[in-house]
Amino acid sequence: MTRPDLTDEDILGMLPAVDWNAMLRAAQEAAASPPGPRRLPEPTTPYGLRHPQAGTVRWSCKLGCGWSHDENPGAEVASMRIVLPADFTGRDIGDALSAQAAERHEAMLQRVEDAFTEHYASAHPARQSDDPT
Ligand SMILES: [Zn+2]
Repeated sequence: MTRPDLTDEDILGMLPAVDWNAMLRAAQEAAASPPGPRRLPEPTTPYGLRHPQAGTVRWSCKLGCGWSHDENPGAEVASMRIVLPADFTGRDIGDALSAQAAERHEAMLQRVEDAFTEHYASAHPARQSDDPT
């Protein structure tokens, strides 16, 4: 934060438009949404709400070998930092959070894609990672 005169409570008070639970849900929904042009398998959420790892999203190998890659978008939301201009307003905070959410989502899909590329190369070398079948 660039305003040392503000306490955390002051800053949280400037966040009327941000519902952290809704944000967490949005992150999870985004993670569960179809991968679009990327050829990732449909992800699952392997843990229930009361599980310590609730919110984990898992992509499993399409070839059924048992390998999977986990991400936890909710944990990322809880640990994120935002960068704001010195004279920021509540709107700046909202914009920064939206931009950051999109960035995080993209970075997460890239990590998943990289993990799959690496997995297919090492465990299924005869298989192309972009093979749709
Ligand atoms: Zn595999």
